[in-house]
Amino acid sequence: MDTTRGIVHALAAVQQRIAQACRTAGRDPRGVRLLLATKTVSPDKIRIAIQAGANLIAENKVQEYKEKAAALADLPVERHFIGHLQTNKIKEVIRYVSCIQSVDRMSLVEELDKRLRATERHMDILLQVNTSRECSKFGLDPEAVPDFFKQVAQYDTLRIKGLMTIGLFDTDPERVRPCFRQLKSLRDELHRELPATAPPLELSMGMSGDLETAIAEGATIVRVGTAIFGARFYPDQYYWNENENKKTT
Ligand SMILES: *Cc1c(COP(=O)(O)O)cnc(C)c1O
Repeated sequence: MDTTRGIVHALAAVQQRIAQACRTAGRDPRGVRLLLATKTVSPDKIRIAIQAGANLIAENKVQEYKEKAAALADLPVERHFIGHLQTNKIKEVIRYVSCIQSVDRMSLVEELDKRLRATERHMDILLQVNTSRECSKFGLDPEAVPDFFKQVAQYDTLRIKGLMTIGLFDTDPERVRPCFRQLKSLRDELHRELPATAPPLELSMGMSGDLETAIAEGATIVRVGTAIFGARFYPDQYYWNENENKKTT
């Protein structure tokens, strides 16, 4: 099978998995968006997926947006950021994306606000929550989320659209389920504090191996890479750890 057909088939298969998971969970499939995690994927492959109907992509590194920007400039697609964001990359990242899913500390919020003010812009954000403390250094502690949410809500350059988590890195979805459940319960807790008219907060959770579980637990955005584009050369640790040169297996 050639590359194009491979990607088109894989995309359709993932869309079917999402639809089936929604049926099983008694949810409306329109309530779940598929985000393509495109780290390490070449622009021509990303283009194939977009032309086959994908409308939301995300990178983990600003550098990859930069490298692929020209080749994908003509494509109508929503772009998010899902990687660990360093404050010195903010000026650049806001050129490429409409939503940053990995906001997890006040220094980032302050710098984002400063940059957005300077360019008279707004940005959608999700708060990244660390639901698997033993495995990840990133994301807010779950207990810190309600206060952090209130603080960030003071910044009118930022629109908090929901919560994101990576969850436990485990091939058994049942072991990841408590992470998803925790994110949803945090979201419900936030909802209780918000006016009834406020739009529901998104839950960005679930990846290639566990999207069904995430949907059963309430995911509204699933982030899928390998199930569509195949295995990556770099281990995910390379993208998820702050100190990229240090091996932390
Ligand atoms: C790579 C990545 C994904 C997708 O993971 P797959 O297992 O390839 O589907 C989702 N979320 C984040 C933050 C990622 O870095």
